[in-house]
Order: sequence, then C-alpha cells, then structure tokens
Amino acid sequence: MSLRPAPVPSVPEETARVAHAAFPHGHPHLRMRDEFPRFFEDEQFRALFAHRGRPADAPWRLALVSVLQYAEGLSDRQAADAVRRCLDWKYLLGLELTDPGFDFTLLCDFRDRLLAGSAELLLFETLLTCFRERKLLHARGPQRTDATHVLAAIRLLNRLESVGETLRHTLNVLATVAPDWLRAHCRPEWVERYEQRFEEERLPESARERDALAATIGADGVALLTALYGPTGPEWLRQVPAVAVLRQVWVQQYYREETAGGCRLRWRTENELPPAPQRIISPYDPEARFGQKRRVAWGGYKVHFTETCEPDLPVLITDVQTTPPLTGDHETVPAIHAALAARDLLPAAHLVDGGYVEAGVLVSSQEDHQVDLVGPPREDTTWQAREGTGFTAREFQIRWEEQVAVCPQGEKSSAWAEKQERGKPVIQVSFALTTCRGCPSRERCTRAVNAGRKLTLHPEKEDRALQAARARRATPEFAESYKVRAGIEGTHAQGVRRCGLRRCRYVGARKVHLQHLLTAAALNFVRVAAWLMDAKRSRTRVSAFTRLMAPAAAG
Ligand code: SF4
Repeated sequence: MSLRPAPVPSVPEETARVAHAAFPHGHPHLRMRDEFPRFFEDEQFRALFAHRGRPADAPWRLALVSVLQYAEGLSDRQAADAVRRCLDWKYLLGLELTDPGFDFTLLCDFRDRLLAGSAELLLFETLLTCFRERKLLHARGPQRTDATHVLAAIRLLNRLESVGETLRHTLNVLATVAPDWLRAHCRPEWVERYEQRFEEERLPESARERDALAATIGADGVALLTALYGPTGPEWLRQVPAVAVLRQVWVQQYYREETAGGCRLRWRTENELPPAPQRIISPYDPEARFGQKRRVAWGGYKVHFTETCEPDLPVLITDVQTTPPLTGDHETVPAIHAALAARDLLPAAHLVDGGYVEAGVLVSSQEDHQVDLVGPPREDTTWQAREGTGFTAREFQIRWEEQVAVCPQGEKSSAWAEKQERGKPVIQVSFALTTCRGCPSRERCTRAVNAGRKLTLHPEKEDRALQAARARRATPEFAESYKVRAGIEGTHAQGVRRCGLRRCRYVGARKVHLQHLLTAAALNFVRVAAWLMDAKRSRTRVSAFTRLMAPAAAG
C-alpha cells in the first residue's frame, strides 16, 4: 500500500450540524475535535508505507481510531463498526454521515506497520506533544510510577502439558508451512498422540505413568529435531520460530544422560531447570514468563505506568515500560528516566513504592537526571535490626577516606574489601576475631563463632543516599507528600476496566508493549476530554461506616 498524504479535513457541515443538534450540552469527542483539530497527520506515517501500490486509507484516521478503540475497550471489528454508526466518532474523524468507514482488518495492518517501522511510540508521544502545547503538561512537576501484572493470551500449563503442547504446536506449524516434509518424517503414532490438546484431565495421574509419557514426548521431540537439524533437514525450516521454540524447550526441560545401556532422555529435576526469568512457559507466547507477587501468580508481563500528579492539571501518563514479571521494579527506573529525559518531561520529584527504591538508583536518578526519587527504602533486615537490641551498621562510624569502620566499643576494623554481590559493588568490612573475642558487647554485635563482626556496605555515595532516604521516611513531611503516590492505583483500575489492561490482546513482548502504549494514549485522551468537559476527578471512595465514624475517630 502506498501513502498519498492529504491534509486533515474540517468536519463536514452536515455532520457538524447533526452532532451539535444531537448533543446540545456538548460531548467529550466533539470538544476534543474542536480543541485539537489535528492530533495526527498523514505525513507522520509516510515512512510506514511503500512508494507504490494501492492508496492506503488515511493513516491519521487509523491512528485516531486505534486510540478511540482502546478508550472504549473495543475489538477491531467493533471499532470499525463504531466508525460507521457513531455520530461522535464521525465528528472526531471528520467524516460525512454517510461514510461507510473501512474494513476492520486495516487496524491490524496499521499496528503491524507501526511495529515493522519501529514506530510504536508515535501515537502515544504525538498526543503528549499536543497536550503539552495546550499547557496541560510540563517538565519538573511531580510524577509517580507503579506497576501491575498483565496476563499473557495463553493458558497456564504444567510441565507435562507444556512439552506436549510445544510439540503439538510445532507439528501444526510444520503441517502448514512444510506439509510434504512433515508427511515424510511423521511417525504414525504421533497422529493419535498429538491430535488433541494436552489438558490435565486427560493426562495420567500416577507419577510413573506421567514420567513415562514425558519420556515418550521427549523422544518424539528428539526424533523431530534430529530430522530437522540432520544433514538432510531443510535449512529454512530451522528458521521457523516454532522449531526454535521446540529446541529451546527441550534443552530447558530434558537432560540426555549416558547410561550403561546407552543414552537416556529424562526430565530435568527442579534444581536443573533454568531460572524462571529464562523459562518458556508456553509455545504460544514464548516471551511470556511466570511471575509472582505476594499471593498473585501469573504468566505474562508487567507494565509500569508513570504519570503526572498535579492537583490543578489533568493526570497524564508520561511513560510506559513493559517488562518480564520477575524484573525488579528498581531495574526499570533508569529506562523510565531516560525515556522521560528524551521527551523533556523529567519530574523534580518521582514518587514510587519501595520496590523502586534501591541505593544505586537513588544516586543515579539524582546524578544523571536531577530527579529526587521519593519512596520508602528497604529496611535493614539483619537480626541486629530486627531484634532492635543489636548493633546495626548505623552504630558503626564509617571513615570512608581512611577505609576504616569504628565499632561502638571504639575498635577499628581490620579489613576493607570491595566486592561484587549480585552484580552490584559492595564493601565488606571485617573486624579481627582477636578484637571481638573478648568484647563485652559481643552478644549484641555478632553471632559468628570463629570470626569477628562483618559489615556489608554500599559504596559511599549510595550508602549516604540510602541513609538519607531512611531518615526522610521517618518525617511527617514524607508521609504527607507521599500520599499522592497511591493515586496511581486508580490508573491501573481505569486501564483494567476501560481498556482491558489486565489481559494481553496480542502475543509477544513488542505487540504487548504496543497494547500498553495504546492503553496509555487512550487514558490520556479520555482524561483530557473529561478535563475539557469540566468533569470532577474521582476521589478515593470512603465507606458509609468510615464516614459516619470519622468524627469520633478524630476526637
Ligand atoms: S564484637 Fe567486635 S566489632 Fe562488635 S562491638 Fe565488640 S569489638 Fe566491636
């Protein structure tokens, strides 16, 4: 398809007349079109289309429909239908009342073009620019971030189901892309074994039978992989994604061991499995991962929204990050700040929960972007701190220049070593056993039998930043200013209820990220529309009982 860029037309006279008659008190979509006559323009999408071919439908309209689609939680088919039948959409899109719209498949094609052209951010950022020009958004105001879990478009499988479904999926793909090759290499018994979905109810119950089935599936997979990767296997078939996933899953789940009778394929034990962040949980979305937070376990992704939180402006999402579920929240902070810096939307204060506050991130936020990361830092979890009677690291005087620590008994440390712990630099400070052995405060300081006290410190800047964050947390000002962070829970709730944020519409990390960007663009659109219509912002609901008892509790 080729693009012939055309200017965004004004709203047709008849459409405007009927719309204003039908909505005498105004409508958010009408107001948005009057306030922002041009959100998108065809020229922005030129790189996504070929120079020759059938002329494409106006991409500025497809972009706006994509945002509206998420704002109203519609499928592609429903969105294309809304273009035909909704007066407010016609007004916003500048269409005649008689316009028949477009085929719904164009929306999928448009998203594919955005992904192929690495233009996922285009819609989200263009809206932000419009709102910024309208002075609804500015840099250095406070912002807040939080994450929520997102379920992949898959069902969760146990190990046996997973290997069975992986092989079944590969056979189905090969049956489509290389039917003759598969017919020549398929074993007769595979037809019955991989005809139906692998579901727990149909699988054997006893451990012995399950192990036997796992071994059979494993052997079948090896036979197929041997044919594919053998000297006569077609090179191009190895590039098929389902084949690569089969190979990866077999490496993750099976172990080939030498026995007296030859080679044996067996399940890997739990200890031999790769860590959860690397483990494929379904062949239908190989990038989805298992996640767990407190009592919630899921297969899929995690999305981090960052938004403004100023009382006299609409709350607008300024950044979206999609990560695997087990990626630490603090690991996303540098990416969030880099993205906000690129948009010139860095906040002065960034409110986050405890998961984002880490000593290194506190320093890099301040040094690289002059952002004050505000949140409750992780507390000291050593037994000395937990029991409240021991000597924590804070009771020691640290002389950074001399590389010496002085303990509460006035003794100096004997060793100071820089090390790496979980990929991060730390400093290990040790006191000599001869110093600690006869110490009258030993019981409060260390429980090591054959060693003196050891301290693990962050590097100086990080340690100071962490201590400052802990001290700030104890102040009443922190409690007051931190209250607004909780408001972002409402954004997640709005995204889930209005845009279907909790479940992935698509498969694969990039497409899921595009879904999250469209969700954020839609929420921003809806919020600005509500702002322009002077709608009151929702407040946290308080139960009738709490309201009734509030005066008594205060007294
Ligand atoms: S146990 Fe060692 S480090 Fe701890 S207070 Fe006594 S002398 Fe100091």
